Amino acid sequence: MELKSEISQIATRTGRARLLTMALVLALSAIAACSTPRTAPSPSSSAPVSDSSRASLEEIRQTIEALRPVGVALAAPQPGDWRERFTEPPQTFDEYLASEPSVARNDRRKLYVQPLGEFSPARRKIVDLTAEFLGDYFGLEVVTLQPRSLDTVPFDSQREGVTGRQILAGYIVDRMLAPEVPADGAVLVGLTDVDLYPEPSWNFVFGVANLKARAGVWSMARLGFPDDGPGSFRQSLLRTLKIATHETGHAFSLPHCVLYRCSMNGSNSLDETDKCPLDLCPECTGKLAWATGVNARARLERIEAFCKRNGLRSEAALASTSLAEMAKPAMTRTAPG
Ligand SMILES: [Zn+2]
Ligand SMILES: [Zn+2]
Repeated sequence: MELKSEISQIATRTGRARLLTMALVLALSAIAACSTPRTAPSPSSSAPVSDSSRASLEEIRQTIEALRPVGVALAAPQPGDWRERFTEPPQTFDEYLASEPSVARNDRRKLYVQPLGEFSPARRKIVDLTAEFLGDYFGLEVVTLQPRSLDTVPFDSQREGVTGRQILAGYIVDRMLAPEVPADGAVLVGLTDVDLYPEPSWNFVFGVANLKARAGVWSMARLGFPDDGPGSFRQSLLRTLKIATHETGHAFSLPHCVLYRCSMNGSNSLDETDKCPLDLCPECTGKLAWATGVNARARLERIEAFCKRNGLRSEAALASTSLAEMAKPAMTRTAPG
């Protein structure tokens, strides 16, 4: 079976204006996951939020139908949008089940977050909030590991870019993270303030994930300036949440969504990412409920509460709308348009 890594990025190729793209590429090598974490969980590890009662297939199908009225069909792509450049097939919930997706096994129900390198105070706060939100979103226990230095990255895996130090993303994923994925980890997500690049011909990359190895790294270097004030902080936080949840969704075999406006929509630019919703569409909510066992209603309540706490009003309102729709008796729901 081919190994898939996803490179998600706003990237520029050397000598060209900003080329905004996100692509699936084939990984050339696999690195076996290590059964023992070398990095101990920090004292600030978040409390478990795992949803103990996994819904049945029938219950998940009911949830999808309950949420379908709030699903918004995608409009025709604009020039330069992801869907204008790449044609991907739609996938329903039943097609997802048939795809033998990667799910959170009973012995792999922790989502590990690895801070890498130094962070400004605001960016460190975004790391902590992202870790918290990943737990809310996926219904898995999140463990934030102690920060790990990037000083050991060899010279041939880094360079000086126009914005400062850049590190070869594949080195972090395949050499630093993949061998360290704990045995009980569904995924190990690295977050860094340092700019990344996927290969010498690229100017930079947002992040890279090796789905087979259950490891990925994402940079916050180009997601805004959270130290500049509350508005800038919220913008950087929201972008980081979108990228972290989108990429972690891929780790559970959710492909790009072309049915609805959805967190799993492919994005070809930071502008397109800004237009993507934070949450999943009805079909992808069902897929996630199957993959992690998350209770859809409890998940929405957590997302609503998180977004309210952190000033993400539009996102909180969307979660409230979904919850209201789920609360309606089936006979009174709006017919899907
Ligand atoms: Zn993607
Ligand atoms: Zn979707």
